[in-house]
Amino acid sequence: MFELTRTIKYEADRVKGFGREVTSVPGCENLETCIQCGTCSGVCPLSIYMDYSPRQVMALVRSDFKNEVLRSHTIWLCASCYACTSECPRKIRITDIMYELKQRAMHEGIYPRKFPIPVLAQEFTKMAHKRGRVTENFLATILFLKTNIMAALGMWKLGLGLLTRGRFPLKWESIKRRSELDGMMKTVDNISIDALPQAQHHGHKHNGGH
Ligand code: SF4
Ligand code: SF4
Repeated sequence: MFELTRTIKYEADRVKGFGREVTSVPGCENLETCIQCGTCSGVCPLSIYMDYSPRQVMALVRSDFKNEVLRSHTIWLCASCYACTSECPRKIRITDIMYELKQRAMHEGIYPRKFPIPVLAQEFTKMAHKRGRVTENFLATILFLKTNIMAALGMWKLGLGLLTRGRFPLKWESIKRRSELDGMMKTVDNISIDALPQAQHHGHKHNGGH
């Protein structure tokens, strides 16, 4: 069914102070000086697949459109190639800003649910936190089950083949002394929780252009 979506942004969509929070993070300060030239979008090899171009993301952050950027696919499609950062005439560290936005999206749990990249990051982090190691075959299985269960079911033959040849061990990999890791992780989590604001959930709209 055809669905109409509103693309215009209103004052009420803003989460006031968000832009300032991001630009106060070391490395993100120069965002204030963005002249919206679009060079970042022009050099980005992935901008054609993004819902908001890098230039638009910079404008949205500065204007406090927190939910639009945190829910966008753009921040997850960013391949950290640094092309935008090296070409930006204002020396804005766009790639680092994308990292900052990804971290905030993860922390606040407002990333696109079925989109594989944030789900992969989430599950990878969970596994590393819990066991100190990542068991790749379980990670891949969980990723498929959470994002595309039909594709997972369609690969049962491959799974069975790997299983019977011993290429899919059903054993979790773990480090020793997990309690020490747990203590370290809790410390890191507390630092990042203190540094980040509370979650606020609003709607999300897409638009085009560079
Ligand atoms: S290249 Fe730099 S100045 Fe130009 S739009 Fe992108 S972030 Fe802004
Ligand atoms: S670092 Fe990310 S946003 Fe910048 S050009 Fe590369 S893919 Fe695009």
